[in-house]
Order: sequence, then C-alpha cells, then structure tokens
Amino acid sequence: MILNTFNLSGKVAIVTGCNTGLGQAMAIGLAEAGCKIVGVNRSAPTETIKRMEESGYSFLDIRADLLNQTDIPTIIEKTIIAYGQIDILVNNAGIIRREDAIDFSEKDWDDVMNVNAKTAFFMSQAVAKQFISQGNGGKIINIASMLSFQGGIRVPSYTASKSALMGITRAMANEWAKYDINVNAIAPGYMETNNTEALRADVDRNAAILERIPANRWGKPEDVAGPCVFLASDAANYINGYTIAVDGGWLAR
Ligand code: NAP
Repeated sequence: MILNTFNLSGKVAIVTGCNTGLGQAMAIGLAEAGCKIVGVNRSAPTETIKRMEESGYSFLDIRADLLNQTDIPTIIEKTIIAYGQIDILVNNAGIIRREDAIDFSEKDWDDVMNVNAKTAFFMSQAVAKQFISQGNGGKIINIASMLSFQGGIRVPSYTASKSALMGITRAMANEWAKYDINVNAIAPGYMETNNTEALRADVDRNAAILERIPANRWGKPEDVAGPCVFLASDAANYINGYTIAVDGGWLAR
C-alpha cells in the first residue's frame, strides 16, 4: 500500500532548532508519522516538549550551540545511547542578520555562515558516518530558502549560506547515494516565524511580499511538515540532491 511507504514508525529523527517555528512543526510532523525525535536546541524547547508529551511522543532534549561544531560528537553519542540508531537528520537551525551590504560586518558574515552552512555540513557528515556504519541508508533534509535561488536584499551572508546549503545538498547527495543515503532540501518561501518578524512588521515590505505570492498568504510552519515527512520516508527513496520549494508559488512568478 502506497501510504505505508510514508510510515516512519520506529525511526529516529534528529531535528535542530525545534523549540519554535519550522523546526517545531517538522519535529511534530515526524513524530506524528512515527519517529522518535531528538531535538537539538540552544534554548529550552519548553513548548515542543509540552506538545510532544501531550501526544505521548518520544522526545530526547539535547542542548547545543550550533554556532560552532564542538558539540556534534556529543549529539551523535547521546542519540545512540538513548535510541541506538539514527535514521533521519533535519538541519533546520538557522539565523539571519540584516544590514546593507556596504556596511555588512565580518562577524555577521561568519556567524550566519557557521550556523547555516558549516554546522549543517559537519552535522550531515557525522550522521552520514553513523548511517554508513548502521548499513541501512538514511535521510538528510536541509532547510534552504528562496535565497538559495535569489539574491535578496540586505542579507548577504544569509544568501551566501543558503546558496551554499543548496550546493552542498547536491554534493553530499552525489557522494552518499551509493550508501542509500538521500540528501535533499526544502526551500521554504515567506513563512510566519520569528525569522520573518521584522519583515512582517514593515508595512511596505509586507505588502510587497504578499502581492508577489500567488497563494496570497504567508506560509505557516505546518506547511513544511508534509514535505519533510515525505523526504524522510521511503516514498522519496529515488530523490537525490533536490531542493523542493514550499513557497505558495513565489518562485513560479
Ligand atoms: P526561527 O523561529 O528563528 O528558528 C530558528 C531556529 O534555529 C531556532 O530554534 C533557533 O534557536 C535555532 N538556532 C539559531 N541559532 C542557533 C544556534 N547557534 N544553536 C542552536 N540553534 C540555533 O526561524 P524559522 O523561520 O523557524 O527558521 C527555521 C529554518 O528555516 C532556518 O534555517 C531558516 O533560515 C529557514 N527559513 C525560514 C524562512 C521563513 O520565512 N521563516 C524561509 C526560508 C528558510 P533559538 O530559538 O534559541 O534562537
């Protein structure tokens, strides 16, 4: 039965940055599909834990600052101690810094590149080594952006990091497909989360963005949960290195 291929019962999924926003919605979606969730957060994922507990889902709370890569070995170790395996990684944690390109600082460049691209790569590498040693393949899902495809305004390091993330999604997919590891990405459009609070508060930018979205609304965190479950499932076994836009038609304009 086709719907069985979407069933993730017994799988273990690591989701970074799931205390809020898109990460929280994807963690809940994966749990609803049957996964045990490992949440990697720098802030306490209080609301996510509450929602997981209310529904009786299994959730391991790991605290780590993904601005650097030091905690990666501990994340893998704690996951294996708790659940014995890893099947899915969602590299969702991300930051954005806004400033005119002419005034952009080196720190705002390095911080964004570190969280959004460097940590995502080395988390993927560590998890891929675990997948290879387990011998059953696995799924890696990177959270890219419209700015993997476009230039953006006043967010040069974000554009660089998300363009890099779409590129390394392809690079990792090419090298690891032979181990039955699928590396793909989701490029959300304009979604209602903390990340876009400043944009939505700017009346002119808000109107200009809405006017360009064929679906005529901002995306909701739940909009990325279905595509995430799909890419994490056997239904996506022959999809390698692709970035799916979940954008209400923004890129189609
Ligand atoms: P968000 O609400 O700001 O969530 C970002 C998540 O990343 C939070 O959990 C945040 O933790 C975590 N994070 C940031 N820096 C971290 C660090 N150093 N260590 C550990 N965790 C860290 O924004 P969101 O919109 O849900 O973003 C999720 C992903 O989607 C990001 O990669 C973002 O770039 C991408 N995205 C968002 C949109 C959009 O329109 N919202 C569009 C395209 C792509 P804290 O809460 O502790 O900061």
